[in-house]
Amino acid sequence: MRSFTIARRELRRLQTRATRAKQHEVCGLFFADESHRISLIFVRNISSDPRRFAMTRTDFFAAKKQGSGTFLGIFHSHPSAPAKPSATDLQIRGGGVRYQLILDVRGRDVKLWRQRSMVPLSLVP
Ligand SMILES: [Zn+2]
Repeated sequence: MRSFTIARRELRRLQTRATRAKQHEVCGLFFADESHRISLIFVRNISSDPRRFAMTRTDFFAAKKQGSGTFLGIFHSHPSAPAKPSATDLQIRGGGVRYQLILDVRGRDVKLWRQRSMVPLSLVP
């Protein structure tokens, strides 16, 4: 299976934003360059339910345009749950979303998923 990397700095940026959001989830789109290194584009979470996330179509497509490299999918944070897709997360379809990157804020753990399968992800400087 294909594997990906994420720079410590990029992961720290995600952890910081997610920590600041407290019980609210942060979300966005992520991309990979030709060496399979992941980059994130944050998108405003419009969900009023703190345990959910939602994006407007406009924001989604604007972020998709803004990112560089290959579009892989959506990332979001779990303020107090493991870095594993929930039943709701597994229903995400369309828009070219193939992968999901999930951050467990409390456990400072990040995992990459293709549906229910975990995809190898390693930290690089
Ligand atoms: Zn989730």
